[in-house]
Amino acid sequence: MKNIAVILLIAFFSGPALAQKATSPSPAQVVQEVRDYRMDNEDRIIRELSEFLAIPNIASDTPNIQKNAAHLVEMLEARGIETHLLPISGRGPVVFGKLITPEAKRTVIFYAHYDGQPVDPAAWTDGKPFEPVLRDAAIEAGGKRIPFPENSAQHRAIYNDNWRIYARSSSDDKSPIVALLAALDALRAKKIPLGVNLKVIFEGEEEAGSTNLQRTLELHKNLLGADLLITADGPVHQSGQPLVFFGNRGDIGLDVTVYGPVRALHSGHYGNWAPNPAMELSRLLASMKDADGRVLIDGYYDDVTPLGDAEKKALAELPYNDGDLERELGIAKPEGGGKKLVELIMQPSLNIRGLRSAYVGEQAQNVVPEKAEASLDARLVRGEDPQNIHPQTGLLRDRPRTDHRGAPHACSDRKDRERRRLSGLAHADGPASFKESG
Ligand SMILES: [Zn+2]
Repeated sequence: MKNIAVILLIAFFSGPALAQKATSPSPAQVVQEVRDYRMDNEDRIIRELSEFLAIPNIASDTPNIQKNAAHLVEMLEARGIETHLLPISGRGPVVFGKLITPEAKRTVIFYAHYDGQPVDPAAWTDGKPFEPVLRDAAIEAGGKRIPFPENSAQHRAIYNDNWRIYARSSSDDKSPIVALLAALDALRAKKIPLGVNLKVIFEGEEEAGSTNLQRTLELHKNLLGADLLITADGPVHQSGQPLVFFGNRGDIGLDVTVYGPVRALHSGHYGNWAPNPAMELSRLLASMKDADGRVLIDGYYDDVTPLGDAEKKALAELPYNDGDLERELGIAKPEGGGKKLVELIMQPSLNIRGLRSAYVGEQAQNVVPEKAEASLDARLVRGEDPQNIHPQTGLLRDRPRTDHRGAPHACSDRKDRERRRLSGLAHADGPASFKESG
């Protein structure tokens, strides 16, 4: 919470470039004043967050997602922010807000989303994802449930920095919205003028793929003029320190199916003769990367724009806590041939996000499966075009693959007749999606 507020402040007051008056307080003074305000008003800020978290916010739950939007309108208008709903049929609207600062020359837009990922209440630790719960530490660190502290004129509620609020979207992405508004309240309370015009775009279907965002923003682009867009939909650094990202990797998805015989066959009767699609798919996937995680597909890194000196310097100055992460996440030896996490996430990636063929565990059967499926995702970096990266995966429709380490052909036709001909060969579908994400 406090970290997010600090990041948002950086945008309000990023020094002479955005501040309109030479007499403005220094960024350090502003941070201190706002921190003081936060300490004095923590209970009110947390209460506003808790009320917001209590409104169920799955994008497909139309009545409730629209309730979230209506609640946001109240929150924004309470601050005198001019608010418009940009409607999307059957979904939560894009909530647009604008606050003009007289004489400001620049405009900053903040983006955040108010919907959350679908949630199974039975799989939720406290069973009720929309009832905010306070714990005295993170669940992974053994945090116990504690009551929200009492607040009165005599006894101000104090929130410990280790405490955590659990509810769907408490971090992703409702608290950044509350933090932004709290930062604005703090500046006003401390009589520190804004140096910029402020706009906000709060989306209600980010976790459902942002299907309507682009079209909706294009329809209303007259509202959206600005100098800088800041997305509040990102993590703090793993060390807990505030973090500002200057770009996002994109993401494309790709599904691959390798077909075997037209039906699953008994492995005792047909094993060694019938080609096994799970084995073929494993071979295909294993051929794509080396043991250090470097992608081996020809040309995969060709379009990448190399990092500049300023970027390298910024990366070098980040806290280095890879060792802590390895211990926390149970990783004996990371990929990357000794490079740091922050260096490696500047590179394109290729990831198996799911695998499926026949059955395992108690359902395991002695069969040669009829097919094997993998779902892959590739993260893209600056310089890469999602239209071009797909051929680089080597899985473009109908592109022969015999040139690549003897892996199977790719084919685009799933009709049964074709399957008989292509048994043992790969089929690629994709890219299933392309989006910018953190
Ligand atoms: Zn998010």
